[in-house]
Amino acid sequence: MSDPESLWRTAYHHPGNWDRTYPPETMIDLLVASTERHPEAPLLDFLGRKYSYAETLDGANRVACGLAKLGYGPGDRIGLFLPNVPHYVAAYYGILTLGATVVNFSPLYTVDELAHQVADSGTRLLFTLSATALLPTALKVLDKSGLERLVVGSIAGALPPTKSVLYRLFRRAEVAARPADPRISAFSDLIANDGTCANATLDPESDVALIQYTGGTTGVPKGAMLTHANLSANARQVADLNPEPDECDRVMGVLPFFHVFANTCVLNRTVITGGEIVMLPRFEAGQVLDAIDRTRPTAMPGVPTMYQALLDHPKHASTDFSCLRFCISGGAPLSAELKARFEDDTGASVIEGYGLSETSGVVSCNPYAGPQKPGTIGQPIAGTRVSLVDKEDPTRPPPPGEPGEIVVSGPQIMKGYWQRPEADAEVFVTDAAGTRWLRTGDVGRIDADGFIRIVDRLKDMIAVGGFKVFPSQIEAVLHHHPAVKEALVIGLPDPYRGEVPRAYVTLLDDAEPIDGAVLAAWLNSQLGKHERVDQVVTRLTLPKTMIGKLSRKDLLAEVMSEGQVG
Ligand code: AMP
Repeated sequence: MSDPESLWRTAYHHPGNWDRTYPPETMIDLLVASTERHPEAPLLDFLGRKYSYAETLDGANRVACGLAKLGYGPGDRIGLFLPNVPHYVAAYYGILTLGATVVNFSPLYTVDELAHQVADSGTRLLFTLSATALLPTALKVLDKSGLERLVVGSIAGALPPTKSVLYRLFRRAEVAARPADPRISAFSDLIANDGTCANATLDPESDVALIQYTGGTTGVPKGAMLTHANLSANARQVADLNPEPDECDRVMGVLPFFHVFANTCVLNRTVITGGEIVMLPRFEAGQVLDAIDRTRPTAMPGVPTMYQALLDHPKHASTDFSCLRFCISGGAPLSAELKARFEDDTGASVIEGYGLSETSGVVSCNPYAGPQKPGTIGQPIAGTRVSLVDKEDPTRPPPPGEPGEIVVSGPQIMKGYWQRPEADAEVFVTDAAGTRWLRTGDVGRIDADGFIRIVDRLKDMIAVGGFKVFPSQIEAVLHHHPAVKEALVIGLPDPYRGEVPRAYVTLLDDAEPIDGAVLAAWLNSQLGKHERVDQVVTRLTLPKTMIGKLSRKDLLAEVMSEGQVG
């Protein structure tokens, strides 16, 4: 449905509710409201140990008071370097209660990636977990960045009592692994208080709740600043998608919580509905299938590769999916075949949606009720307008009949990038009516019913499963190798992961000859799991543009036309 008010006269919105407004609320308001409604209802099920709404709020208050005692307060940036564990939720709400800003860090980050983003965001304190690969990484970052303190949780402490007795020895090992250092506190010590201290007064529209790092359209990591109002609006917009909320809303929480998709579609949305999250530390198909049998979830947000992995797992044939109603797929394109196969197999509806870090999570979604259009990312969600602009000039509409860059306006659009006014100037465009639109770097078409189809990408980003990989970051690592003269990284189609990065290099004339496989092993040892390339190909030349810049686009076209994929 088009919106005649727009500068471009091609803005689309949801048929019924595009002008729905979302009064600014804080994230704490949402948790408190649900806790008052049913304090004893479970919010989290972590491997059988349930955490009620009241217990979660109490944990958050204790975290806030513990942080205040250590000298932290409003405006500070406090990081989460955690898998999906109950500590994540208590720390998230605790940081917000304090009036500070959460900075999410991917548990897959290497030391350099984490150190860079900790320094860039000015993160003062980092929550992490012992007995995982995270602690050694965090310890190295503590020594090489401006980070002041680590708070280290123990997974044993979060398990059901029966299991945690068995884990006593394990817990002792965890404590032993935590160096005795005044800069390191145990999570259990941080929350050893009564949770009563003055809470901050928050302004939902200006206070930044979350800094979410993303490559944006350029690949240079930058922090999207999401206010309390951005996040709460997006959670309500997503909750509004389901016209008949489940009486028993139980959501599989297996997407990583550090990403906005899970933050909005799993955590924040469930807190609004008063439902329960079945929390799994990470995705492992067999464990997810076991958890479906054990906990009977009604919804399962995920990325396409997760649905594929569940179908491919031998346990899937014996799993009872009868409880599952909705699977929200996002982060990467969902093929019509995978959607149909998963739906036939499970009886659940797989609904594709779309969004970015800069939009707090969600921009558009196919309808829960009513006809979906497979292969599209659905219609703009309530209160959101989507339009298309010329790929070269965002102040103009695209030529008639041509696709255009997708731009979005709505209450979920970030305040801006953390300390990067030049990146803000690139990504926002304001129309004649004064509406601020976010450029997405994705190219699409919109049909007469307002369904959007992504047809291309302007940004140099590779979607590996749901994870985003930026060629420029891998190329920067390659340039550190003494034999490498030039490097280009492109994303090639992969039947399982959607896309996979591959590197192409030329070597310096006076360098010792080096084999591509050796270079690939050297490169991959320095990259996060999802960034790893399938090959490094050495070549005599790499394609360049007219002005002599290396051209990823031409290289991709060359490789695809020569059928060098696979
Ligand atoms: P991130 O900021 O990490 O959430 O990445 C956002 C990007 O993921 C978008 O700009 C798209 O390029 C891509 N993306 C998200 N959802 C979809 C989808 N359903 N289909 C295709 N690409 C998607």
